[in-house]
Amino acid sequence: MAGQNETLSGVERMPQAETGTRLICRSGSEPVPLADYHLHTIFCDGNDAPEAMVRAALEQGVRVLGFSAHACYPEATDWHLPINRYADYCTEIRRLASVYGDRITVLCGFEVDYIPGVSIPSYSRYAAYRPDYLIGSVHYVSDDNPGNRFTVDGPVEELRDGLARVFRGDARRLVETYFEREREMVALGDFEIIGHPDLIRKRNGVLRFFDERADWYRAELVQTADAIARSGKIVEVNTGGMARRALDDTYPSDTFLALLLQRGVPVMINSDAHSAQTLLYGFDFARTKLERIGREGIAPKAT
Ligand SMILES: [Zn+2]
Ligand SMILES: [Zn+2]
Repeated sequence: MAGQNETLSGVERMPQAETGTRLICRSGSEPVPLADYHLHTIFCDGNDAPEAMVRAALEQGVRVLGFSAHACYPEATDWHLPINRYADYCTEIRRLASVYGDRITVLCGFEVDYIPGVSIPSYSRYAAYRPDYLIGSVHYVSDDNPGNRFTVDGPVEELRDGLARVFRGDARRLVETYFEREREMVALGDFEIIGHPDLIRKRNGVLRFFDERADWYRAELVQTADAIARSGKIVEVNTGGMARRALDDTYPSDTFLALLLQRGVPVMINSDAHSAQTLLYGFDFARTKLERIGREGIAPKAT
């Protein structure tokens, strides 16, 4: 496990946090504290109480722990933090920040859905709760009617049905829509971290509904990487799909990560843990990958 003073060569910038402020990024190869900014607890769809996760983090030498309850204001499904619990959630995270503050920096954030016309990751919507940071994530896609939305993060059947019903089997259109939503979110939202930026890959190992080597797919990644670079936002290297055995890789893929790093996009490693047990899951894998791609890029596609 990494120590608190480990540096990451080959990665231009990594974020750090300061207590009670929004995230900042620093340039160069300064020491990077062991940190995880993407965590879910029993306040939304996680399995453990926040305090159990703080204790697990302390045991593993984590210096910054950021909680990011699922939020979709003004709506909530059964996996979101209910709106009438926002205040309780923040109170509990702030309590932990105070109790454990001499040993670890505990931050209170939200992972906010982007759904056009419904939910947007923006501070103005969450100002009453004074979050330390926001993660913006695309979990839902639909056609022009937001009422037809389905998640790309749910069971395989949900994606299979959505592809057939809403996109009439046109997988390319579905995938392009996913990245269109992400670019909209990046342009319109006011938040720091882009969550699992190619989550649409989650079920591709089972459904094989698109070819990640196709030229049109690479074009989507390039366009999205350009939009992200213009925004100045941070991209997370998310290991949650590995912990939940959905795929044996991070979000983003090697190809997408190389495009992001080439453009100087700041990155951070997050676990998206839903239990204390999977805190820091796959961090060594992600760190090795970052170092490799930061150093070498990836080989250009053979023609
Ligand atoms: Zn998510
Ligand atoms: Zn999450």
